[in-house]
Amino acid sequence: MHDVIVIGGGAGGYAAAIRAAQLGANVAVVEKDQLGGVCVNRGCIPVKSWLKAAETLRRVQGGEAFGIQAAVKKIDFKTIIENKNSCSEKIRLGMEGLLQNNGIEVIRGHAAFKNPAEIEVDGKSYPAKKFVIASGGHSEVPDIKGLSKALLTTDEILDMQQVPASVLVYGDQTIDVEMATLLNAFGSKVYLATENRHVLPHEDQDSGQRLGQALNNDGIEVITRSSLASVKASKKEFSCELAGKKKSRTVKVERVLAGIRKPNTDDLGLALAGIQLNEDGAIRVDEYLSTTNRVVYAIGDVTGGTMQSHAASSMALKASENALGKREKFAFDLIPRGTWTFPEVASVGLTEEQAENQDLDIDVGYFPYSINGYAIARNETFGAVKIVTDSEYRIIYGVHIVGPHATELIGEAVLAMQLEYTTDELAASMRIHPTFSEAVVDAARDAEKWALYLPKK
Ligand SMILES: Cc1cc2nc3c(=O)[nH]c(=O)nc-3n(C[C@H](O)[C@H](O)[C@H](O)COP(=O)(O)OP(=O)(O)OC[C@H]3O[C@@H](n4cnc5c(N)ncnc54)[C@H](O)[C@@H]3O)c2cc1C
Repeated sequence: MHDVIVIGGGAGGYAAAIRAAQLGANVAVVEKDQLGGVCVNRGCIPVKSWLKAAETLRRVQGGEAFGIQAAVKKIDFKTIIENKNSCSEKIRLGMEGLLQNNGIEVIRGHAAFKNPAEIEVDGKSYPAKKFVIASGGHSEVPDIKGLSKALLTTDEILDMQQVPASVLVYGDQTIDVEMATLLNAFGSKVYLATENRHVLPHEDQDSGQRLGQALNNDGIEVITRSSLASVKASKKEFSCELAGKKKSRTVKVERVLAGIRKPNTDDLGLALAGIQLNEDGAIRVDEYLSTTNRVVYAIGDVTGGTMQSHAASSMALKASENALGKREKFAFDLIPRGTWTFPEVASVGLTEEQAENQDLDIDVGYFPYSINGYAIARNETFGAVKIVTDSEYRIIYGVHIVGPHATELIGEAVLAMQLEYTTDELAASMRIHPTFSEAVVDAARDAEKWALYLPKK
């Protein structure tokens, strides 16, 4: 009998298995498809490889500002795809090797619970002392008349040999704006429609607003407060009716990208194991990542929340440690969020609106990239760092960054918040000049009301 069986070999499951093995457990991972899950094979890594190609294209196109005159001769989609595939393969091979190196058994097939302490994979039973469910998520297409014929999926985009002439991206989440960015960079006419007032509605309003502006500046037509009512096929295109609060409009496009990420909870035998779901369909876990079955833990996309890879792999560590004897809470409030657009968006902790809704007394510090020396030298001045802090004790409640390297810079904020740093401590710290990281310290100084490089208030 195994000490721990992990269901799913994606970002979460892989990390859970290795951590459990490091702690001396006899571990197996069950995977029905490819090791690496969505992140390595169809998500984070392939999208970043494509976005690097897009960034390279943008750099060539924007070279004139630096006195470099160059023309793009050809976009070789085949090479982009080969490079993307080889990135995924490298990581997958590395994962296989590390699982083996840690003595972890990989069971191929579909796992489902038979009873509270046993799973079945292709007719064979596997009991274990503890289980970790890391079955991930999938994209669910909204039920909109006519949509299925026009539907473009992220999987298709990642293997495209040419871009559609025009696309409606219906959605405002991270993946939607990243795909809009990618398609736009390679020449599609992109409409991005959201029912909300801003894209990225889970982010601080300033971030959503700022990103919306950047997308518009880049030629993506952002259509807010509109829902997709119907999709009708005309000759070569689809007419998409977008119903606004007061008026409707129709956009004509070749394809429509639409989908909402949902947890993978079907066919897992959860009811047989006494595992309950939340109202949103995600597996219910407590602060220790334990499900309603005390020997079963769940992590990553299948638990809903911030459906991002680092959340899955971070939850994995805590779930395996707790499964093997520890009892420590998982810090849900320290999960950072990242969006890889031009410019990037990243955040951790409370938004200004959330802090206000919780009746917290707050101060807010800002620092625009337009005053950061490194940003000026690189001609990358769009964006800002925003810090939400307690007005009395200076505890950092949240940090929100829109701008180049935001997804790297947010690590500073995660560390500061994890170590319960205050804004006055952050304001007093030093960074290399010139770097983007100076903007984080400058935002803290603004919160402390002594920003050196901003006009006096
Ligand atoms: C286009 C796209 C881009 C993304 N970009 C990013 C990004 O840049 N950064 C980021 O942090 N996140 C990103 N994400 C999200 C990220 O991919 C997920 O949050 C992450 O993969 C979740 O990891 P997981 O381990 O929970 O699930 P998954 O990676 O989905 O892995 C689950 C695994 O379980 C297996 N499985 C499922 N059910 C069973 C079963 N019953 N038996 C056996 N095996 C099973 C599946 O085959 C799969 O391999 C992106 C997602 C998409 C779609």
